[in-house]
Amino acid sequence: MLRVGIIGATGMVGQRYISLLQGHPWFTVTAVAASASSAGVPYEQSVKGRWQMIEPIPEGVQNLVVLEAINVEAMAKACDFVFSAVEMPDKEMVKKLEESYAAAGLPVVSNASAHRWTTDVPMLIPEINADHTKMIDAQKKKRGWSRGFIAVKPNCSIQSFLTPIHALRAAGYDIDRLAVTTMQAVSGAGYPGVASLDMIDNIVPYIGGEEEKTEKEPLKILGQIKKEAFVLADDITITAQCNRVPVTDGHTACVSMGFAKKKPTREEILKIWRAFVSVPQKLQLPSAPLTPIIYLDEDNRPQPKKDRNREQGMAVSVGRLRECPVFDFKFVGLSHNTIRGAAGGGILNAELLVKQGYISA
Ligand code: NAP
Repeated sequence: MLRVGIIGATGMVGQRYISLLQGHPWFTVTAVAASASSAGVPYEQSVKGRWQMIEPIPEGVQNLVVLEAINVEAMAKACDFVFSAVEMPDKEMVKKLEESYAAAGLPVVSNASAHRWTTDVPMLIPEINADHTKMIDAQKKKRGWSRGFIAVKPNCSIQSFLTPIHALRAAGYDIDRLAVTTMQAVSGAGYPGVASLDMIDNIVPYIGGEEEKTEKEPLKILGQIKKEAFVLADDITITAQCNRVPVTDGHTACVSMGFAKKKPTREEILKIWRAFVSVPQKLQLPSAPLTPIIYLDEDNRPQPKKDRNREQGMAVSVGRLRECPVFDFKFVGLSHNTIRGAAGGGILNAELLVKQGYISA
């Protein structure tokens, strides 16, 4: 078993990590860290009144004393690698914190946005760009880190549509434009998140920074590494509108897509999606969904309440594929934002990194 630390363990994503890692075949949680205001007491006491998971706090974690995240030395003694789920007002602080862990010899698998655009840090969705982990070799060499490194996952909105888009591009259909409208759950804003009076009976048509992330992050993920540098995909343009809706978990995306040249038929698209498997499935990673893209034939699906937990929350549910009079086709995608879009996605990244030899005891 590899010993795992979680930085930001008391927040929405940190709690999801703790919940998902219970009974994990490779990883066991041995250290938890958060801000000074949560540190110094057992985890159970630290999250009293704010534990948001349906399952109770796992027994092995209840009594772990929460460390202050800046106490890197103590964390380094207690674990083999860390998941970072911190939220701080200043991204430079997050960058520095994660770098201090990597410099101390700990691989950092991060959910935070701070390092997503750092030139030597891979941004991973293992079904799409598992080969981008090779940038870690360059990162370690450049920074003089022998064992530690930083790898990140993208924003939670992206998981709801990018794998179906990648599956079609990988099958030879050059999607060159996307119009995406997201309807994002309140848990995406962390805890306590958006005020209840702003959310009940309402939709908020603005999430700070979200549209930029939804439009730009896919270009790095769909890009390539050339001469130890990321070359962004320049053959696709994305426009996004992001809305906060009164749903607890599960981000929905309404997507219109246009093809550069060859346009598939509806049947061909469905065949590609239904047959799609990739590196995590071939490597049989413990958290990999057996069916990463689930197409639902019913006219009124996918729905967050009914479909977000498919494949333990790790699948992308897709439906309503139909022709579009402006673009070529349109569809609706859905993924669980704190599982596939956050902690579950982070765990899958770590499993990939273990299999590839980047993380070890
Ligand atoms: P959250 O509920 O607000 O939790 C924030 C965490 O960061 C808490 O554990 C908090 O500890 C800790 N923290 C705050 N200030 C700190 C400091 N100065 N030093 C150390 N730890 C500090 O946020 P969240 O939703 O879990 O999000 C965590 C990260 O995941 C963010 O970077 C977010 O952008 C990303 N993310 C979230 C989602 C989602 O669906 N929620 C999806 C993808 C990515 P205290 O409890 O001690 O304050």
